[in-house]
Amino acid sequence: MNVPVKTQPSASSRVLASKVALVTGSTSGIGLGIARALAASGADIVLNGLGVASEIGRVREQIAAEFGVKASYSPADMMKPKSIAEMIAATIAQAGRLDILVNNAGIQHVAPLDQFPVEKWDQILTINLSSAFHTTRLALPAMRQNGFGRIINIASAHGLVGSPFKAAYVTAKHGIVGLTKVTALETAEQGITCNAICPGYVYTPLVEAQIDGQAAAHGISRDQVIRDVLLAQQPNKRFATVEEVGALTVFLSSEAAGSITGVALPVDGGWTAH
Ligand code: NAD
Repeated sequence: MNVPVKTQPSASSRVLASKVALVTGSTSGIGLGIARALAASGADIVLNGLGVASEIGRVREQIAAEFGVKASYSPADMMKPKSIAEMIAATIAQAGRLDILVNNAGIQHVAPLDQFPVEKWDQILTINLSSAFHTTRLALPAMRQNGFGRIINIASAHGLVGSPFKAAYVTAKHGIVGLTKVTALETAEQGITCNAICPGYVYTPLVEAQIDGQAAAHGISRDQVIRDVLLAQQPNKRFATVEEVGALTVFLSSEAAGSITGVALPVDGGWTAH
């Protein structure tokens, strides 16, 4: 008997069919994983983020072909409110709607508080926090008009607890948990939900960039950095995966999650249970 090989998810798994999702910072890491998970569930995708145009074009074409959805790209810089406004306006003009907004773009810088570069503080607060304020305020009118919206803020375990040397990041991530609560309260009667996902360490370029520096700073190997520094607080002693964060994003985007709003959900192997 010939068993048909499935190249695309079945119709029943396409719970987000006809939805339009915009994921900031989706040219890499967690954002790209989320974009792929949303596309696998049937949503049309707007990618955003930095990178080489030809490589981004290839990713966009691959998502469209693999999942049978529309995939477009906005080069908007999350440092610039005007650029963010153009991205949201273009998405709504082209797709006619914006159902799912994932605020994921983020950067990191690690330094003691009294040596923290002022420009890095400003950059982290702008990209990791203020950009979500701008995308949210600009997306809400279209969501209200449709009576449906899902806003998912990718915070961090560092939105719930602190760590030394990450003043700007921890501040921005705590801030985005606060923004999540206010957004949820202001939209609760309008078919819109807003939640934060708080990953522990996920292996992505953002984390890779910290490993060699930590190894040099502590005089230990990369493996020791991963086990004894990065995953020291993560009780399950493994990185969370972009697929795990993507699956939670799909669930929070679905009709089934309509009563979940204003929460910050850890995906951290038990870190914040300490
Ligand atoms: P990453 O470096 O792989 O991806 C970051 C994305 O943000 C990229 O697409 C990049 O192009 C984009 N970006 C950066 N600056 C931008 C700008 N000015 N304008 C537009 N896009 C910009 O990092 P990641 O690990 O995938 O992180 C994604 C999010 O997840 C961040 O908010 C991060 O704080 C959060 N997070 C990551 C981890 C982790 O362990 N990796 C843990 C918790 C939370």
